[in-house]
Amino acid sequence: APVIDLRGVSKWYGATQVLKGIDFSVARGERVVVCGPSGSGKSTMIRCINRLEEHRDGRIIVNGVELDHSTKNVDLVRRDVGMVFQQFNLFPHLTVLQNLMIAPVKIRKIPKPEAEATARELLARVRIAEHADKYPSQLSGGQQQRVAIARALCMKPKIMLFDEPTSALDPEMVQEVLDVMVSLAREGMTMVCVTHEMGFARTVADRVVFMDAGLIVEEGLPQEFFSNP
Ligand code: ADP
Ligand code: ADP
Repeated sequence: APVIDLRGVSKWYGATQVLKGIDFSVARGERVVVCGPSGSGKSTMIRCINRLEEHRDGRIIVNGVELDHSTKNVDLVRRDVGMVFQQFNLFPHLTVLQNLMIAPVKIRKIPKPEAEATARELLARVRIAEHADKYPSQLSGGQQQRVAIARALCMKPKIMLFDEPTSALDPEMVQEVLDVMVSLAREGMTMVCVTHEMGFARTVADRVVFMDAGLIVEEGLPQEFFSNP
């Protein structure tokens, strides 16, 4: 069974329909890149997958759990789904290490020493180990985004959602973030990435879906979408 399954999903903001019956499924270990023009609903679709937005019609099943209107299911789904945003969304008043530890300690009740060990391991992995005690504002955008990825990974998600993770970065910092995403992909993480990075799509995507005006209008292999470098 697919690990993410959307059937006929619609979403409205007031009188405006922004998702118009989306059918979308993702297999375990699959890497899907979502592209399409601004305003086409990409962000809304992935935000519905972890219930940052609530869909109106249709069904969304994540890791075997249907996102109905109960908060219990929302908690179950969020446990398995990590999300990385365009704006890094780190807590500015917490150090890098504290940013990584807060959810495992407060929500998962993981003992502090264990949470810290995991946090430091992940910071090393995204090559931020030496900045553990700094505040987000003391880091570059690329470094902050790598912290945001490490923070999501601290919760040991089974699925990672990325919403234009490199769009707010200076060009010279894009690659360092993409490198971390590529390494995640190589480890078999199930990933859905909204991105305009064609190189990334060519390198790691199993499938590209193209959205327009609230619908998935095309899907295929990355080489069908991005022919020449
Ligand atoms: P994309 O990610 O493809 O740029 P979005 O999912 O962000 O598209 O937006 C889809 C449409 O929904 C756009 O027309 C956008 O203006 C609208 N929209 C997004 N968020 C809101 C909101 N909170 N309230 C009203 N309209 C919204
Ligand atoms: P993105 O396309 O990266 O999702 P946007 O710039 O479209 O970002 O939206 C930024 C924020 O503004 C989001 O929280 C979105 O929900 C909200 N937003 C977008 N469009 C509208 C809108 N037409 N009315 C109200 N809020 C909106």
